[in-house]
Amino acid sequence: MEDESSLTKRYRNRLDNAANYAEIWEIVKDTVEFALHRRRSGMLLFLDDLPIQLGAYHPLGTNNIVLNRVLVQIVETAGEPRKVANALIYNLLVHEYLHALGEISEVAVRETVVKVAETCFGKDHIAAQAAVKSPWTLLKGIPLEAVNVPRRVMEIVKDFEKTDRYVV
Ligand SMILES: [Zn+2]
Repeated sequence: MEDESSLTKRYRNRLDNAANYAEIWEIVKDTVEFALHRRRSGMLLFLDDLPIQLGAYHPLGTNNIVLNRVLVQIVETAGEPRKVANALIYNLLVHEYLHALGEISEVAVRETVVKVAETCFGKDHIAAQAAVKSPWTLLKGIPLEAVNVPRRVMEIVKDFEKTDRYVV
């Protein structure tokens, strides 16, 4: 049996050091499964350049989550450590993922994000603290208006998911 502290340590390490969107996406699904015993497979993650005010969205009735690539790029360009960018991406994705799991209420989603993040990363971790306050606090001090990114094509994040594939 794994005790609580080594479990949070493992999740923290994974998130702080995640090197790409696909890794964070896996952490989103794993932490929700651990904390809530729920998982939805077959979801697709897309990256797009959206208005700054919008972090991510889940078009109702689809299997898709779209993340605002510009926002993440701003954080990276501002020279913030990887763990800050990763905490932001995690918060935006887990929020939409909970919507995709069927939770429609904004209040309930926000509360559940806090629960998942605190359970898996511990209350003192940056991802949990951002969940309590708001993921936008991670962008504090970064000038968002100054950013002018040319709109690029939407891209899809390659998924590591294997659970819904069968070998015939
Ligand atoms: Zn929402």
